[in-house]
Amino acid sequence: MIDCFPSIDSLFKEAVTHLLLDKPFDQWKLGDLPLYRLEQLRHWIFERGCFNWDEMSNLPISLRQDLKEKWDLVPMYLQRLQGSFDTTQKFLWKLRDGQFIESVLIPATEGSKGIRASRLTLCVSTQVGCAIGCKFCASGLEGLKRNLSTGEIVGQVLLARNQAKRRIDNLVFMGMGEPLANLPALLPALDQILSPKGLGIGARHLTLSTSGLAPKIRELAKYPAQIRLAISLHGGDDETRQKIMPINHRFPLDELLSACEYFIEERKKMITLEYILIAGVNDDLRQAELLASHANRLNAKINLIPYNKVEGLEWERPTLDQIKSFHKKVQQGKPPRVTLRMEKGHDIDAACGQLRLKEMKA
Ligand code: SAH
Ligand code: SF4
Repeated sequence: MIDCFPSIDSLFKEAVTHLLLDKPFDQWKLGDLPLYRLEQLRHWIFERGCFNWDEMSNLPISLRQDLKEKWDLVPMYLQRLQGSFDTTQKFLWKLRDGQFIESVLIPATEGSKGIRASRLTLCVSTQVGCAIGCKFCASGLEGLKRNLSTGEIVGQVLLARNQAKRRIDNLVFMGMGEPLANLPALLPALDQILSPKGLGIGARHLTLSTSGLAPKIRELAKYPAQIRLAISLHGGDDETRQKIMPINHRFPLDELLSACEYFIEERKKMITLEYILIAGVNDDLRQAELLASHANRLNAKINLIPYNKVEGLEWERPTLDQIKSFHKKVQQGKPPRVTLRMEKGHDIDAACGQLRLKEMKA
């Protein structure tokens, strides 16, 4: 992989040209270029991570000039990088229209049979802001600005891979935005991320997280690849969920859980229920019992995540004792699997939307 990062100049020339990555590479025509030229271009971008026309040395200079005039290659510019090489790194990207989004790169050491391997997970954004308006979340505070385009979604992975200088193993769509509210741009992005000619990341290594858009979960069940699905549950009954997630008025628990059943039935695949723990809101033991019973009904895994404080919002993480009792109570319900995830990157505002919020206030 070579080190060619976008220059600011290339970005802020008026974004009048189209972004090349918005078109899936298998649909490129580019003025009827011969296939081998299109293949050379794909190779530069997807295999080598090159975002500079001038470095594409096996393309004739006149062709590069022509493409440069018609197409924007660079989807976004790195505005700020927080964190260090071997820990969680958070990217704040500036898009071509000046909006900000974030991606977070999280290293983890995993192992089995005595072999330890370091794996990289990238947390990807799908929208600028979010319209869902969960009350605990920094991403939704300013509402939705716009959907990300296909190229802006794929671009996050390509540019983060350049930054990491190595392969990215897992993707989680848990950055800013509601992925299922942007399926028309997201699905072509997934096609390219999954394709061996694109980023070549296996479907099992890709997780979409949703606040529970029941009809879209049913729609996603038809997508051919075996991607993973995580549901942001955050409440065991309607009353509790509604306190922090207004979307529950539109798609109450019953409707959400039956959409999940449909997805599981169609895909023959386990899903995950995510549950953030917020002090005095959803951390009482009755909720733990309900959570375990929903997981049993769906044969789903549970991921408990202590709340990550957002500046300016009233919500707090429960005490460690309360977190442990909640965890224990869930385990007593004997769901298929429970994990307690102590958030990595807690100290660098790793929860979604927090860094962008700081940039906007600065
Ligand atoms: N919109 C999607 C995906 C993005 S949010 C969704 O809601 O699922 C990804 C996850 O981060 C969700 O489970 C969300 O509830 C959680 N989250 C948001 N703000 C958080 C915070 N401050 N602390 C911990 N988790 C948070
Ligand atoms: Fe949007 Fe997800 Fe944040 Fe809710 S938790 S506001 S759906 S990004």
